[in-house]
Amino acid sequence: MTVVGLDDTDSRERGMCTTYVATEVASRLAERTGATVQRLLLVRLNPAVEHKTRGNAALAIHLGHDQECDPETVYDVARTTLEDLAETADERTNPGLVVAQHAPDEVPDDVSAFALSAIRDHLSIDEATTLADDRDYRRWGAGNGRGQIGALAAIGAWGTLEDWTWTHECIAYRDPERWGTPRTIDEESVFAAAEVGYPTVWDTVDRVEGETVCVPHTPGPILHGIRGDDPEAVRTVSEAIGGEPVARTQRFVTNQGTDVHLRDGSTLESLSAARDGRAYRLEGRVASEPETRRGGHVFFELGDPINGDDTDASSTSGNADASSANATETLTCAAFEPTKRFRDRVRALRVGDRLTVCGEVARGTLKLEKFAVRDLVETERGTPTCESCDRRMKSAGRGQGYRCRDCGTTAATKVDQPLERDLEVGWYEVPPCARRHVAKPLVRGGFDGPTHPER
Ligand code: ATP
Repeated sequence: MTVVGLDDTDSRERGMCTTYVATEVASRLAERTGATVQRLLLVRLNPAVEHKTRGNAALAIHLGHDQECDPETVYDVARTTLEDLAETADERTNPGLVVAQHAPDEVPDDVSAFALSAIRDHLSIDEATTLADDRDYRRWGAGNGRGQIGALAAIGAWGTLEDWTWTHECIAYRDPERWGTPRTIDEESVFAAAEVGYPTVWDTVDRVEGETVCVPHTPGPILHGIRGDDPEAVRTVSEAIGGEPVARTQRFVTNQGTDVHLRDGSTLESLSAARDGRAYRLEGRVASEPETRRGGHVFFELGDPINGDDTDASSTSGNADASSANATETLTCAAFEPTKRFRDRVRALRVGDRLTVCGEVARGTLKLEKFAVRDLVETERGTPTCESCDRRMKSAGRGQGYRCRDCGTTAATKVDQPLERDLEVGWYEVPPCARRHVAKPLVRGGFDGPTHPER
């Protein structure tokens, strides 16, 4: 058995894409080595990595073969294909290839750990090449060789990840010269197929934005990629979509839609310990009213939940003024303009709401991918109402409390008043049009609370 890992073959401007290269490598390997392609793995690595072209994808090909299949031939065929197809004219494209001579599920522990770090952290080229050499893997890199990081991670992923989903890609039958031009797709058929496939097949379209999410906007040969929890269901939806002639299709097992990039924030000392370039799941309380800034981006501060306070699950005890006083350190959370209607959910938050937030931290700001409302503030401090005439009292002067001028009734302080909320307890998420590849859509289930899925 052999596992071939590859990465970093494409360029932003020139098109090409690593999934296509992997498809081509797999078919040439099957043709020239007699090996059987068992599966293709599409692994999304840390979305915060600055060198990525787009979705930080790395690919692994799992090959089954008998004794006669020469590992050197596998390496040669893969390397030649990469040399043929990788967009090395773009100096930011640094292809990498790693070939492991073991069964896909016999991944050594350190290679598995490397894969998880590649999804949740930042690694160096040296770390990849040293580990690959320690394990006697064959490897090759062009340019600065950075692609070997992803290639090794793609081999290790099968040994450590447990949640897998499926993607069915259709590759257009078109000349490479046309790869940058718009794709011809029957949009109506996409929406109809998406409807039939949901909820097993997800993120095909964004119904509210009217967007065909499954059709890439970038140059390249891929016509559409259909995602879901079942291989047959993604194929059925894919086949129901009309458009340009399809030259080839390829199914991938992927970690897309799994949230495996999220680190457990409960081990952090405080919210301010969250580091740039990593993604977290964190607990906290809203510490400032959400504010919409220029460009339509919405920001609020999340404060550390304090001691026993956050163990109180009853929402009636929450109070805006009291809770904000509990926050000691804060982390800025943001819902950027492309997250569209998700921003209305964020704007509906109030100081004191207890949340779980998920997203990547960049320049000290957590970019929200989803959040769970655990506990809603349901009262706010307001000017008292006169018991006799039911009208709002007026201030009786600085530090003098409140008074009804008509009835002469008084009150010493502001009082708790019910607060109308248009949020419920449970998980809210960005819409499909703003979903990161690796982020888990709520419709997939398994969340610790009610969910409010977007589609
Ligand atoms: P596409 O989605 O079009 O395939 P991409 O977004 O996957 O492109 P690449 O061109 O593959 O981007 O570039 C990502 C580069 O970053 C690769 O060289 C990969 O090896 C490297 N890389 C991936 N994850 C990490 C990580 N955690 N730390 C350091 N480098 C990484």
